[in-house]
Amino acid sequence: MRKSVIIIIVLQLAACGAGNEKQRDNHEVHDNKKEVVCFIYHRFGDSRYSSTNISRKDFEAHLTWLKAHDFQVLSLSDAIDYLKSNKEYRKTAVITVDDGFASFYKNALPLLKKFGFPATLFVNTETVGGNDYMGWNEIKEAQKYGIEIGNHTHSHAWFLNQPEDERYIAFENEVTLAQQLLKENTGTMPTVFAYPYGELDTKMREVIEKLGFKAAAAQNSGVIYAGTNLMQCPRFPMSEAYAGLDQFAGKAEMKALRVNRVNPGSFLLPEGKTKPTLQLKFDGTDLRLDQLQCFIQGNECEMEQMQSENGLVTLIVSPVKSIAHRRRTLYTITVPDSQGQWHWFSHLWINPDEK
Ligand SMILES: [Zn+2]
Repeated sequence: MRKSVIIIIVLQLAACGAGNEKQRDNHEVHDNKKEVVCFIYHRFGDSRYSSTNISRKDFEAHLTWLKAHDFQVLSLSDAIDYLKSNKEYRKTAVITVDDGFASFYKNALPLLKKFGFPATLFVNTETVGGNDYMGWNEIKEAQKYGIEIGNHTHSHAWFLNQPEDERYIAFENEVTLAQQLLKENTGTMPTVFAYPYGELDTKMREVIEKLGFKAAAAQNSGVIYAGTNLMQCPRFPMSEAYAGLDQFAGKAEMKALRVNRVNPGSFLLPEGKTKPTLQLKFDGTDLRLDQLQCFIQGNECEMEQMQSENGLVTLIVSPVKSIAHRRRTLYTITVPDSQGQWHWFSHLWINPDEK
């Protein structure tokens, strides 16, 4: 059974290769190269919350770097359009900001205006106008300067902690309510969504797809390309510990590790499993597989690698110690290609029993 699955994938890869060969001067070749690196920020110049904050100085350094390195900076929805379009390849970055904190308006918006860069602001509607949060007038003013407003649910709840028979109804109701409030107060219906805490399961993803969103942002890190499930777009977090310019530039220049198959597909820690195994399949032809690395925070990582004759790699990643005591654990896999450019993939595990 397993053998036949592998053969099918190999045939599909061969077919793609043949297509590209014929269309060497066609836009589809450019499309295949297109990638979008998306960053997530929360608070700006607000040192009370170091794990979700970035200083104004560091944020300005990020924007300066993007400009100096000729990146096009797009809103998330424009970046998805670019990815699907026949437009020429350009280095592309997206700045997303979650939660609608007042410090975005005060400390980040003036810098974005100065650089003429857009961003996507994901707003949870219940707290709009509350202490520490932007009000509707500030959100509308941000819109005038090219800030796209996205949906971040109404209450920003821990949906995975709700019983399954209530979870999806509650989730859909909240997303729909937030859409109504955002439309009423900003005049525009959002087309992009971000999962609170980056937490989702397969059915939540299906709800977002059914509601017609163009893309949904998660919080596992990685790079978006044409093969990404757009209902689960990866983003690189930018807060004080990771916000230095070297780290930012490294992420901005990162390429996607284009994984064909991930097993399991869900983020939820399987019942009873404390050291879950992740299996990936990808084309390793142009990759320096002897330099494959994996990282698991506060843990060690083991990898088992198999390569078939046609270059298809099966990689099995597992932790040395249990991950069950943490709510969220990221497995990150990186590898350089023959040009020395690094490629990145990560998978998030969520254990909703932990806080
Ligand atoms: Zn949030």
